[in-house]
Amino acid sequence: MIQKDMAQRILETLAFDNTYARLPQAFYARLNPTPFSAPPNLIHANQVAAELIDLDPEQLTRPEFAELFGGNALAPGMEPLAMLYSGHQFGVYVPQLGDGRAILLGEAKNEQGQRWDLHLKGAGMTPFSRDGDGRAVLRSTIREYLCCAAMQGLGIPTTQALCLVGSDDKVYREQIETGAMLVRMAPTHVRFGTFEVFYYRKQHEHLKILADYVIEQHFPHLHDVDEKYAKFFAEVVERTARLIAQWQAVGWAHGVMNTDNMSILGLTLDYGPYGFMDDYDAGFICNHSDHNGRYAFNQQPYIGLWNLSCLAQALLPLAGKDSLKAGLETYQPLFEQEYQKRMRAKLGLIETRAEDDELIRDFLGLLQGSHADYTIVFRDLGTFSSAEGMTNEGVRDHFLNRDRFDAWAGRYRDRLRSEDSRDDERQGRMNRVNPKYVLRNYLAQVAIEKAQNKDFSEIDRLFALLQDPFKDQPGRQVYAAPPPNWGKHLTVSCSS
Ligand code: AMP
Ligand code: MG
Repeated sequence: MIQKDMAQRILETLAFDNTYARLPQAFYARLNPTPFSAPPNLIHANQVAAELIDLDPEQLTRPEFAELFGGNALAPGMEPLAMLYSGHQFGVYVPQLGDGRAILLGEAKNEQGQRWDLHLKGAGMTPFSRDGDGRAVLRSTIREYLCCAAMQGLGIPTTQALCLVGSDDKVYREQIETGAMLVRMAPTHVRFGTFEVFYYRKQHEHLKILADYVIEQHFPHLHDVDEKYAKFFAEVVERTARLIAQWQAVGWAHGVMNTDNMSILGLTLDYGPYGFMDDYDAGFICNHSDHNGRYAFNQQPYIGLWNLSCLAQALLPLAGKDSLKAGLETYQPLFEQEYQKRMRAKLGLIETRAEDDELIRDFLGLLQGSHADYTIVFRDLGTFSSAEGMTNEGVRDHFLNRDRFDAWAGRYRDRLRSEDSRDDERQGRMNRVNPKYVLRNYLAQVAIEKAQNKDFSEIDRLFALLQDPFKDQPGRQVYAAPPPNWGKHLTVSCSS
C-alpha cells in the first residue's frame, strides 16, 4: 500500500519525455495544440488509464487536468509533435497522411519504467491536415472514448483513452456540431503507414532508424538477434492475427482498416465508424462510406493479411524477401488457431476436435438465417442443458427454423456429452468469454444525443458498465437487450 502511494503522482510531478522527438526531423512536425476558444470542460476521465501513468485519481478533478489534457497547457518535457505517416486507403496508396488532427504531447513514464504516448486527438490543424480542420466532433470523440473502454473491458488489445473534454466551439460537418478532444494512450502510435512513408519516399535510412527505434522500445528482446527485422515482422504478423481473431469472435468491425490505422503493436487503433454487430450478418458493413464492403466484417481477416503484405513490402530494404514471405505465411494458420480457440470457448467446449470447425460454422449459419442477435444468443447458449430430452426453449426461441436448430442442438449436446463437461461449470466458463454487454451503436447514440444537450450521465453509465461486460450487473438488464427498432442499422460514416 505504501509503495502504491509512493507511485502516485500529481500533475506537476508527471514525468514527461519524448523519444520520438529525438528521431530525425523528417519523422514529424513540431507544434503545440490549438486550444479551444474557451477553457475545455472535462466530460470524463478514466481512472484505470490514469493509473498506468501513476496519476493519483484525485488529480482528475483538478481544473489543471482539463487544461493540460485539453490542449491549453503543456508540462515540462512534453515536446508536442504531429507524426508523419502515409498508407493505403481503401487499397490505394496515399503518399502523405500523418496526424492531421492529433498531436503527440509526449511520453509519460511510470515507476515501472514504461512509457505511454499521450496523443491528443482533435487538437487543431497540423501540416498534415490536408483539407481538414484539425478538429474532432463530440459525437466521434464519445464513440472512440467509450469503445476504448469497451475493448479494454473485453480484454482486446487497444489504445486507451485517458479523458474526454468538450467545448462550445463550432465544427462544420454535414451539420454544425461542437468540437471535443480526447487523449489516447498507447506504448506507441506508430502504424504500418509510418513504415510505408519512408519506403515509398525511398528514404531507407529513415526506414531503418524507425525500425530500430520500434524494436528498441517495444521489441527489446529482438535487439541483438540475427535477422531482427524479419523476426520483428513475424511478431507483428502474430499480434495482428490474434487481434483480428478477437474482433471476429466478439462480432466487432473496425470499418476503416486502412494501413494507416493498423498499429505496429497489434492494438485496435483509430476508432471511426466501427460497430458491434446486433443481428449476426457475416457481410456486416459498419461504415456507410464503404460502398463495396472492402471492410465488411467477414473481410477483416483477409484485409489483415493484405495490410501485412503492405508492411512486408515496406520492410523489403531491411529484410530478405523470403523471410518476410515466411512471416506472412504464418498469418493464416495463426489467425485460424486463435479464432477457433476463441469460438470453441464461446461454445464452452474444452477439448479441441477436428469437427468443431463445422459445428461453429453451422451455428453461425443458423444465426445468419435467423437474423439472431450475436451477443445475446451466445450469452444465452450458456443456459443450454445437455441433459437428454431437453428442448432448450430459451435458446431455441432465437431461431426461425426450429428444425434446423434442433438438428444442430443434437450435435452440440452429443459433443458436450462426449467430453468431461458439466453444464453449470460450462455456463460459468462461457459467461467469462461471451459478454453480456457490448457497446451497441444505439447505446453510443443515446449517450451522444444526451451529451449534445449537456447531459453526460449516460457516458458515465456506459463507461462503468463496459468495464465489466461479462458480469451480470443488477439493474442494467436494459443494456443487454436487443436494439429498439430505431436503433437498428444506424448509419455511421467517416465524417468525424
Ligand atoms: P482517419 O480516417 O481518421 O484514419 O484519418 C485519415 C487521415 O485524415 C489522417 O491523416 C487524419 O489525421 C486525417 N484527418 C481526419 N480527420 C481530419 C480532420 N478533421 N482534420 C484534419 N485531418 C483529418
Ligand atoms: Mg487514422
